Amino acid sequence: MAERSKNTDSGNEIGSEDIIAGNVSKYTVFPPGYSGLAKKGHLIFDACFESGNLGRVDYITEFEYDLFIRPDTCNPRFRVWFNFTVENVKESQRVIFNIVNFSKTKSLYRDGMAPMVKSTSRPKWQRLPAKNVYYYRCPDHRKNYVMSFAFCFDREDDIYQFAYCYPYTYTRLQHYLDNLEKKKMEYVCRELLGLSVQQRRLDLLTITNPLNLKSGADQKVVFITARVHPGETPASFVCQGIIDFLVSLHPVAKVLRDNIIFKIAPMLNPDGVYLGNYRCSLMGFDLNRHWQDPSPWAHPTLYGVKQLIVEMYNNPKTSLEFYIDIHAHSTMMNGFMYGNIFEEEERFQRQAIFPKLLCQNADDFSFSSTSFNRDAVKAGTGRRFLGGLLDDSSYCYTLEVSFYSYIMGGANSAIPYTEEAYMKLGRNVARTFLDYYKLNNSLVEKPLTTIPSIRTSRETSPAFNPTYHLGSGNAYEGSRAERRSMLNSRDHSNSS
Ligand SMILES: [Zn+2]
Repeated sequence: MAERSKNTDSGNEIGSEDIIAGNVSKYTVFPPGYSGLAKKGHLIFDACFESGNLGRVDYITEFEYDLFIRPDTCNPRFRVWFNFTVENVKESQRVIFNIVNFSKTKSLYRDGMAPMVKSTSRPKWQRLPAKNVYYYRCPDHRKNYVMSFAFCFDREDDIYQFAYCYPYTYTRLQHYLDNLEKKKMEYVCRELLGLSVQQRRLDLLTITNPLNLKSGADQKVVFITARVHPGETPASFVCQGIIDFLVSLHPVAKVLRDNIIFKIAPMLNPDGVYLGNYRCSLMGFDLNRHWQDPSPWAHPTLYGVKQLIVEMYNNPKTSLEFYIDIHAHSTMMNGFMYGNIFEEEERFQRQAIFPKLLCQNADDFSFSSTSFNRDAVKAGTGRRFLGGLLDDSSYCYTLEVSFYSYIMGGANSAIPYTEEAYMKLGRNVARTFLDYYKLNNSLVEKPLTTIPSIRTSRETSPAFNPTYHLGSGNAYEGSRAERRSMLNSRDHSNSS
């Protein structure tokens, strides 16, 4: 990785981005001309860790540094995700960091988003105060958009870490799945569906009543994937929320397991996640543009998932009812969905049912931001490809959730998402399947299963029973309103 000697080219000149080949590694920034030993206050930057990303640091003044995102491996077009540490600070040292080479111009930084920070003595991620963050077009940087933030280091011995959004690493997922496996729940099965180019695991969870897996049984399948785009970390929290709910003791989860087979591939691009990429795989592919013809050697994880889906499609006993691919959105607020456009009006309308039901269950989900399209640019996405392949009883969606915030009824301002709020959206997605199947009258009562009466009105109904609730009950106040999405820019560009 790019180990630099003393920085001599300080100044505002942006070098060509392609000279950024790797992450900075314990890189000490000295003032120009300084030749002594490092002193306290000579900041040391590092991004050589899992999901780390920082390609270059330029000293501007004692108080100001230009930071360059390392582009995705083998694809310099994408520069959004950053995640790095800073140490060797002086107490009360004030700095301005400018992130100068974003590949996008529109950003939620315009709407108050701020980078995340934590430190060794305060290990919980927090957002910086929005008032310390500036996003603007900068003449010094070829009129590129620059995000600057002011920060005051307060503890000399702390290592500080800054990131674009809450990280969720490959290792974290592996620990989560290992713990799930240790519980030996009869209705959860973890399989290795394949390996990535760098030999990381492509995991597949199957969550269902084992009776549903008996040979010859008719199978209703809901298939869920996440993290095809590695920098979209909120997708992993949503996906974990779905899994947490489905494996729980909640009576709704039990009914769902009795009737449905949930297949979940929580990380479609483990190499990209590990490497700290934003959008691409190790070899620089946007995997969500290769569904039509994935190669077993260049896109092995996608190839593996597609094989499995096609196999299910060809099995007359299996009905693939839903395919949902989870993403995060860099310019929109709230959770929302993309669906397909179909010629038959009836199929098109039926497709709107699930997002409508989800909107009733989740305060942060916006139906009015949900849209249906057939842009040519999205042709290689899982949603579009499978929407074309599967028959008219299947629904394919992209579930998007904002990198930043949601607007709820009763509130005028955006509420920043927390890890817990992302997971809660996942739990709400999971329980919405029950509403859907109840509406569809297709739940079968199995022996020893009672279908509880689920109140669909949010105002009168706690989402989960008290033994299950993961977080503090902050999410059910206020009433839903569509105005939240009015504040969204209707920018659906370059997503999913
Ligand atoms: Zn995406």
